[in-house]
Amino acid sequence: MKLPCYLVRDLLPLYKDEVCEPETAADVREHLEGCTDCRTLWEALQTAAPLEEAVDHAKAQEQAAALRRVKHTQQKKRVLIVLAAVLATLCAVYLGLRLVHDYANKTYLDYDADDILKVEYEEHQEEGGNPLKGDGLYITLNPAQYNTLLSTTFLDTEEGEILVFTLGNSLWNEWMNTQWYGLEEGELFKDGICTVGNAGRSTVEELVAAYYLPYSKFVDWESRWARSVPEDAILVWQRDDQ
Ligand SMILES: [Zn+2]
Repeated sequence: MKLPCYLVRDLLPLYKDEVCEPETAADVREHLEGCTDCRTLWEALQTAAPLEEAVDHAKAQEQAAALRRVKHTQQKKRVLIVLAAVLATLCAVYLGLRLVHDYANKTYLDYDADDILKVEYEEHQEEGGNPLKGDGLYITLNPAQYNTLLSTTFLDTEEGEILVFTLGNSLWNEWMNTQWYGLEEGELFKDGICTVGNAGRSTVEELVAAYYLPYSKFVDWESRWARSVPEDAILVWQRDDQ
């Protein structure tokens, strides 16, 4: 053997990294073939390498996992922010629509007097009970024009009792194009205004006239506690003997 054991052991790291001179490498190889002790050390050195690599690999994996966790957390945050933004937008849209709906629902449009087709006093005594079927004043309206009987006021005059009423359709119904329900094709809408026993009134017999006043004027007139028929009220019914 050309090389002594102690020298070979010193040289093994260099031999492993393949940085020895070719001649030195050849001598080391020759020594390893002939010396069991040095060969055992050499084999141990060789298995040590993958171990280091394994440690490095494990570290790299751990780092990658940590990076993934950070990314995952960021992604979750981003999703939460987007969700919060969507929720806030939906709330804003809902509140906006509510405001528009509430406004439109409380805003009444004047009902065209031409759509009041008929106002008649009818005797339905035999039908009793239901105030809408008893004796009283009945208005027949254009079924294509949805409206609500908004308000009635009775004036006590020397001639007798005079009814002033108003109709109106809310802006919301107008937008929604609401129609009367339950009407057959061509059927007219009829509603009772003043009937015996309706709202505790029993003076229908004394009723001498009924006037229609558009809503916008009615509100103003009523707020001033007017006690006489307003000038622009439209006479829609009068007792025959008047
Ligand atoms: Zn040796």
